[in-house]
Amino acid sequence: MTTGQDLELVSLTKRYGEALAVDSVDHHFRKGQYACLLGPSGCGKSTTLRMIAGHEDPSEGSIVLGGADVSWLPPARRGTAMMFQSYALFPHLSVSDNVSFSLKMKGVDAPERRKKAGEMLELVHMDQYADRLPDQLSGGQQQRVALARALITNPQVLLLDEPLSALDPFLRIRMRTELKRLQQELGITFIHVTHSQDEALALADEIVVMNNAVIEQAGPAREVFNAPKTEFVARFLGGHNVIALPHGHFAIRSDKVALTSTAEGRLGGQVIGIEYQGAYVLLTIRAAGDQEIAAIVPEEKYFENPMQQGVDVGLSWDDSALHPVSV
Ligand code: ADP
Repeated sequence: MTTGQDLELVSLTKRYGEALAVDSVDHHFRKGQYACLLGPSGCGKSTTLRMIAGHEDPSEGSIVLGGADVSWLPPARRGTAMMFQSYALFPHLSVSDNVSFSLKMKGVDAPERRKKAGEMLELVHMDQYADRLPDQLSGGQQQRVALARALITNPQVLLLDEPLSALDPFLRIRMRTELKRLQQELGITFIHVTHSQDEALALADEIVVMNNAVIEQAGPAREVFNAPKTEFVARFLGGHNVIALPHGHFAIRSDKVALTSTAEGRLGGQVIGIEYQGAYVLLTIRAAGDQEIAAIVPEEKYFENPMQQGVDVGLSWDDSALHPVSV
């Protein structure tokens, strides 16, 4: 359903000389959704985001926000805001002045700027740091300031380009939770570029998988994970096998592949890898046609009947777990 504040990309294209960075992309981002643009390096995610932000001109096509074509408006007049990496903060300005910088450009007076910046800093739990300089903050705190600086413009759409990649793994997960909380609290659209499947699955209402300058598949996170339409999506999201069977190629989650005796299996193979992973054991089986198939067995179940490398096994599954994919 289209609502007044949805964001639409219409045949959006970007060429750099001969190279096609974004190839006629059509997509409809619904208002108030957390969307993740997911894909490998170089697939066109950042270019798409920069065109939405107005930091890059489209070669063809348009960007429509709230029914208005914003393709050629300057960034500050689009209703979008980009959260830049924390190192883009002005080092000589206080946290408060960094956050309210765009208001200064608009001619808002100092007391009002201070008040607004305070509200934004409260939102990201940084109000007690208003008078510090950026280099007196940790990486995670700088990230929150960068977020407050983007949100002060009251955007309808917040754009985030790999916002967590500079953080250590522990902080990354904390900040991820924070982003989700903020998005839900504010009810605005977030479009978050990432190459991390885990990040996209953890955050996104909608995952938009890009590959080679086009959208390969888009949909709710669970739908894209559970029913990948192409071999690329199945492999990129991980946790899946792509099996070639006489009637086509199928994706099947590794935790839906069961091990049986060789007589009972629908496919026979040999165990070539056994990895203990804590909560589960990851088995790699070389099956007919030299295909490697991963099977995940919960640890307690596995240790009821542990296996030896090199042993012959059967593989079985429920047909409902198979999803046809194009290759
Ligand atoms: P991603 O964000 O998915 O890693 P990008 O959008 O940054 O991918 O890049 C998509 C393609 O466009 C890549 O092949 C990249 O080399 C190319 N590209 C990006 N920016 C420029 C530029 N300013 N000039 C020339 N080529 C570029």
